[in-house]
Amino acid sequence: MNGPHTAPGHDPGRPHEASPSALTESDILRDYRAAFQIAQFPMALVGAAGQILAANAALGLLLGVEPERLAGVRADAVAGLGLDGRTRGSYHAVLRGHSDRLRCTRRLKHADGHSLWAEVTVLPTPTEDSAALLTVLDISERRDLQERLRHIQMHDPVTLLPNRALFFERLATAVSDSATGRIGLCFLDLDGFKAVNDTLGYRVGDELLGAAAQRLAECATGAGGHLVARLGGDEFAVLVEGSSGTKQLTDLAETMLTALQRPFDLAGQRLAVSASIGVVERESATTTATGLMQAASTTLYWAKADGKARWTLFDPERNAHRMTRQSLSSTLRRGVDRGEFTLEYQPIVGLADDIVRGAEALVRWRHPQFGTLGPDRFIGLAEENGAIVPLGRWVLGEACRQARRWQVEHQGPPLFVSVNVAVRQVWDSDLVSDVAEALRVSGLPSGLLQLELTESAVMGSAGRPLQALQALSDMGVRIAIDDFGTGYSNLAYLSRLPVRALKLDGMFVRGFRTARHLNPADETIVSSLVQLAHKLGLTVTAECVEGPAQAERLRRIGCDTGQGWHYARPMPPDHLATLLAGRD
Ligand code: C2E
Ligand code: MG
Ligand code: MG
Repeated sequence: MNGPHTAPGHDPGRPHEASPSALTESDILRDYRAAFQIAQFPMALVGAAGQILAANAALGLLLGVEPERLAGVRADAVAGLGLDGRTRGSYHAVLRGHSDRLRCTRRLKHADGHSLWAEVTVLPTPTEDSAALLTVLDISERRDLQERLRHIQMHDPVTLLPNRALFFERLATAVSDSATGRIGLCFLDLDGFKAVNDTLGYRVGDELLGAAAQRLAECATGAGGHLVARLGGDEFAVLVEGSSGTKQLTDLAETMLTALQRPFDLAGQRLAVSASIGVVERESATTTATGLMQAASTTLYWAKADGKARWTLFDPERNAHRMTRQSLSSTLRRGVDRGEFTLEYQPIVGLADDIVRGAEALVRWRHPQFGTLGPDRFIGLAEENGAIVPLGRWVLGEACRQARRWQVEHQGPPLFVSVNVAVRQVWDSDLVSDVAEALRVSGLPSGLLQLELTESAVMGSAGRPLQALQALSDMGVRIAIDDFGTGYSNLAYLSRLPVRALKLDGMFVRGFRTARHLNPADETIVSSLVQLAHKLGLTVTAECVEGPAQAERLRRIGCDTGQGWHYARPMPPDHLATLLAGRD
């Protein structure tokens, strides 16, 4: 392909006939002026004092003004450059030749009243006649498109409400703005929405969300135009900036609950829904966006747990409790590894002769942060997260080791040790081999080990748990039912399991604490329980024996052993050793 330089008839070797040097200065100036006037790009030349020297036709068209009428007008007024101090400073710097460019976006007004978005640029000119060139580019379309895109990005197509992204943006701004003062949040979740989706389909589900969103938006508008957003699924949130206190938020929550109570007529169906709301209100300076959201989500969870169809207000105390639970739960395993647990022992005493027969091992946690904690604080958590398996294994090993020491160091009839076993240890770990290992390592005879299981752990036992109980019993380990009477209390059933002892729950004994407050019904029950247990070949230990009157009555009834403050509180192993030394 031929380029212009090799076009036929044109000899690159010869000088041009009309060379640029043939144009005079004034020719060029005239051409530049013409180019300036017809350019599509809206422009103006600005003088050193900031007045427009000349504006081109495009600029006139953009602003709806004859270009000649712009001459002499202040450029900063035309292009909106005097509005804020920083832009004004930069503009003057360009005019004085101290800066080589100013660019900013401005909203300008057309002479007919409509407004437009413009990108304004001011560049210094290298001539003496003018100081700067002002260009004004109409970017309204781009801006509109950007705004439409942003709207799509920030809104939820199902409910048309602001979405999570917009909500968090507004929340973050509100929290970081010191002018916000107090701030409140209602975090709402429809109850049973999943069932609507599952039974009536997603279309109806979406319609319900849309209709619920509309009612929520009406409530928020009525209460002062607060931001309502759909955070996802069936979760909505209302942000109250500059709130006046918890009352304002709980009132709003109440209004929303009431609004949602009216049935929804959708797809030929009449649907009733309710919602749960977590309410948080605090000073914005003391919180963060994530802190507020976390509090709201915890509170929503409480509202659900408390029975749904209600609002619940954030409660710092309840939260502290939850945090402690969380922190305990997450440090349990490490605590076992670091040897933070200890055992105390509570004597189990013969009722007829007051002789110590055994001791129950009760675990305590010497927590580095929270001090010594009783088992009620952590056994449930350990069962939930599975830490009970390593913890229970440690308890077994330690209790057997201690019992063997008593056996070796003290004369007289040997003491048995009674160890609590959680349901999950029977199901989730190889309890039989753990017990065998503890006995082997400690050298404790299996007959000196008793395991305490609750009724619920052994009831309905079939398969693996029953096999485990049988294997343990075959090894010579005694199985006892702990807290007997609080569960199913099916003695006939228990007798078919390899169970050898019952520990009567403290509530039975509580009934006959003193002679004056004797409850004959309790005594009759305990008496017949003991008789029946004996017939079935089970021994009976009474728990929570707190006074001599109870001990005497239990002895008369024929109960075998007792345990409780009347005899001794749980104690460290060396205290028990001293007690035993006194016995010897
Ligand atoms: P439990 O097995 O019923 O243990 C008896 C509880 O009653 C002990 O509470 C004991 O301190 C308390 N107690 C003893 N005598 C009296 C009395 O005269 N009056 C009253 N009111 N209470 C008395 P503790 O040590 O707080 O243990 C609570 C529960 O934690 C135990 O109840 C047991 O179920 C569980 N537990 C303790 N250690 C372990 C363990 O190593 N593993 C498992 N899985 N659970 C354990
Ligand atoms: Mg027990
Ligand atoms: Mg008990």
